[in-house]
Amino acid sequence: MDHTDLYINGAWVPTDDRFDVVNPANEAVLASVASAGIEHADAALDAAEAAMADWAARTPRERSEVLRKAWELMTERRDHFAHLMTLENGKAGVDARGEATYAAEFFRWFAEEAVRADGLITHAPVSGARIMVQHKPAGLAVLITPWNYPAAMGTRKIAPALAAGCGVIIKPASETPLTMLALMPLLEEAGVPKGLVNVLPTKRTGPLVDHMLHDPRVRVVSFTGSTGVGRTLLKSAADQVLKPAMELGGNAPVVVFEDADMDTAIEGTMLAKMRNLGEACTAANRIYVHADIAEAFTKRLAERMSALKVGDGTDPSVDVGPLVNAATRDKVADFVADAVAKGAKVECGGKLPEGTGYFYPPTVLSNVPEHAECVQDEIFGPVAAIQTFTDQDDVIRRANDTEYGLVAYVFSGDFKRALQVCERLDYGMVGLNRGLVSDPAAPFGGTKQSGLGREGGHEGMLEFMETQYISASW
Ligand code: NAP
Repeated sequence: MDHTDLYINGAWVPTDDRFDVVNPANEAVLASVASAGIEHADAALDAAEAAMADWAARTPRERSEVLRKAWELMTERRDHFAHLMTLENGKAGVDARGEATYAAEFFRWFAEEAVRADGLITHAPVSGARIMVQHKPAGLAVLITPWNYPAAMGTRKIAPALAAGCGVIIKPASETPLTMLALMPLLEEAGVPKGLVNVLPTKRTGPLVDHMLHDPRVRVVSFTGSTGVGRTLLKSAADQVLKPAMELGGNAPVVVFEDADMDTAIEGTMLAKMRNLGEACTAANRIYVHADIAEAFTKRLAERMSALKVGDGTDPSVDVGPLVNAATRDKVADFVADAVAKGAKVECGGKLPEGTGYFYPPTVLSNVPEHAECVQDEIFGPVAAIQTFTDQDDVIRRANDTEYGLVAYVFSGDFKRALQVCERLDYGMVGLNRGLVSDPAAPFGGTKQSGLGREGGHEGMLEFMETQYISASW
């Protein structure tokens, strides 16, 4: 591996304290990565502060052109990043290439947004003063990302932060720090000034992040990960009243009505379930199928799931790679055992394979009871848990009956009914006759305990900006 040290102020910084990154397909150590301490966090904050002064003063067009160049370079080198993600995360080539393209697109989108930080000027209705509104860079941002999308969860934060004029420190997930480190030379080549973006892998995650969130120069904390860690960070962020952007967990329902086009519903459910082998906050977690079509739907889904080839993601014929680590794989196996013990039927898969690597087969469960753990909790693996319904109001109630509110999916041929159902779903995003909602041009984010704020779209850059209003007379 080329880059395994900390990246601070445009330089590679080795440390004595290091940790291993493991390839989940063969359990072999891929790299030994530097682990940042408090002194490195301070150095990164100093570097980001110094670089931000110049960067924020540049014209939006200059910032935009650097981001555009980053998109071009990342698109050119898509296969390099895809391969690295397969090695450290395990995802199959098709998922890895999809992620690399998606990750690069955030640079293109925010290159376009950088020049569109709209303001407002208007008359105050009573006093007659002018109300002038503008957006300014919020300050240094600490970005914390998960292992399931090692590139895209980083670029979804870096690109809007840079577009807004902010300097950043990124703490990538310990399972997958290599992709973010590999992105740094590309950003340098694109023209990102040294010090503006710093990467700090660490094994002392809690204390290191907490230290940065108490530095008075930091104004934004942007986190993607589990709801539990999100709560901890919100508490920590409260001390300095930081701007929080929280992309947290999900428990996505899929609702398939009896009037849905069966091909569309199967394709959409496959995508919602199996993109990134189910290791996605947007993954279909609870699949509610109308009783009239449940048998046919289940049979077709099981046929499609059992036809997927499982193996090392570096093999181009493989559809499904290993899960990221043994704990994630074991949790998936436990969910299946729990559901079966409570009355679910295994339609395909469901058997933990022997041998090396954290593999779990694509699995379809039918007749899953409401109190099964996989209905209540995020599965984060290749298990499709099917339940049935007959009544529209009842299925909407069940779909909303969770503390999460990230994304829901609806399949119906009756557009009027489908839109009425979408509006009653308490979710930040809904896929209607589609199994994929993620798009750099759309506001990604959830309601309830799935998070605060939005990434992508027009909203994404505003997460890194403060609104200033000037009351003026002339
Ligand atoms: P996680 O355990 O919450 O970890 C995410 C990041 O937080 C990692 O970088 C981790 O570092 C760091 N972290 C852990 N404890 C911390 C602490 N006390 N203080 C500060 N940072 C801390 O989540 P994960 O297992 O990597 O990812 C899976 C979760 O992410 C799922 O719940 C999924 O739904 C969610 N997710 C949400 C979205 C979204 O957009 N809503 C997207 C993707 C994933 P270490 O690796 O060093 O522990």
